Amino acid sequence: MMGDNLVDLTSSQPEKQLESVARVQDPVNSATLPQLVEPDDLEDDTDDLEDSESESDDSDIFESALTDELERAEFEPYTDDDPGPISYTPAEGKDIRDKLRRLGPNRFIEQTITSGVVGVRKLVTAFGVRPDLPYGTRWYYQILGQCIQRELRRRQKLTEYNTVDDAVSLLQKSKNIMVITGAGISTSLGIPDFRSKNTGFYSKLLARGFDSPEDVFDIGNFDEDPTHFYELAHDILPVTDRCSPTHAFIKLLQDKQKLLTNYTQNIDNIEEYAGIDPERLIQCHGSWATASCRKCHTEVKGDAIFEDVRQHKVSLCKTCLDIIEKQPRKRKRTSNGKSKSRSSHSDSEDDGRYDVPQPGVMKPNITFFGEKLPSRFFDRLTEHDVAMVDLIVVIGTSMKVAPVSEIPNFVDEKVPQIYISREPADHINFDITLLGYCDDVVAELAKRAGWRIKHTNLTEEPLTATPGPKTGQWNIAPLTPATLPASND
Ligand SMILES: [Zn+2]
Repeated sequence: MMGDNLVDLTSSQPEKQLESVARVQDPVNSATLPQLVEPDDLEDDTDDLEDSESESDDSDIFESALTDELERAEFEPYTDDDPGPISYTPAEGKDIRDKLRRLGPNRFIEQTITSGVVGVRKLVTAFGVRPDLPYGTRWYYQILGQCIQRELRRRQKLTEYNTVDDAVSLLQKSKNIMVITGAGISTSLGIPDFRSKNTGFYSKLLARGFDSPEDVFDIGNFDEDPTHFYELAHDILPVTDRCSPTHAFIKLLQDKQKLLTNYTQNIDNIEEYAGIDPERLIQCHGSWATASCRKCHTEVKGDAIFEDVRQHKVSLCKTCLDIIEKQPRKRKRTSNGKSKSRSSHSDSEDDGRYDVPQPGVMKPNITFFGEKLPSRFFDRLTEHDVAMVDLIVVIGTSMKVAPVSEIPNFVDEKVPQIYISREPADHINFDITLLGYCDDVVAELAKRAGWRIKHTNLTEEPLTATPGPKTGQWNIAPLTPATLPASND
């Protein structure tokens, strides 16, 4: 579900927006969007249109099916190379989407649906939606409306930036670079992506009866029984004594006064070891850097709980323990009415302090499912970075998790965007895509820029860039004997 969580970052209540997963208003002009109402001759479920505003369970399911299908179409677009009458080829689909941009939504609808030249089930295939889903025509009209909005707010590739050397000169001339990072920049340190299904962590949590990492990182489950987390967490305890060449590259950008902000989705806090200025660092999903008591909210340095984590032991709050130690053993509820209202916010806290002397459990300040994301993310992005950023570099993330996945569509579309990862991210139109191990790619970029990354594990092998299938796409890899030094762009 997270991939299509289109968060309205312009809202004054960003956290709330994140919870409710509101859709972005069409920045072009939502008022110009046509009402997608079926022509009279399509009768099947027209009556249902009247119910569409209702809050019934049916409409929730309806909405949820729309969101799910849009998300699926985003990441695994429906394509049919041998189209029957019911779908477009990928090339035809692109022509249709270009036509939408050229004509605008009203004329586009006039010249397609209204004029009857194409049916809605075929038209949506141009946007990656299957034509044969088990939904009625009304559903198809709604998803077409959503597809049109999504397409119109999608950023288009800038045609002037295409080569590896274009990327290098962008790095050289830019002064406020936004770097967005994910698990890929830490994998060379042996830190598994805990969302990945190919890890020991994943198989261990299955063995404990969990279905997914999300269950272990669920705040409700944690408060109910923290032993599961503490039995498993040692597997994802971060290293504290090294960083990857890619972290060192980001530090290099900072040293050159070019780093605006590093938004990281990683919780390993390796940025601290690398020396990234905390002012320029947003750990979007929290991190192990600190830990807090679930009861009295006392915050400590993260490594204060590392020993308990290594020993698979639930870490208890020392502040709570001190309070309990100093408390008279028998304290009755009736005798402390005043102090209760002064110092307590909730019954559970009250119980903990006065009636049932249980210390609070420490939780690393990783953002668990069911918790708010750090508000610094929204504040920094909207109030500071958006006005200043002159280059976006995305490294080692598939960009499928909101809210980070929305940043490229939120920043001014004229700001160049470079993507560095193992696999392309086709749902975002980056200007230059550099595919390969990110440690290799940044080494090549720094070398061409004449910069020196301070890291002992920097690759010594010569690297080569070979063009990928799309304009602006390059594969960066060590020059092996089998690979002839093809055109270096
Ligand atoms: Zn406490």
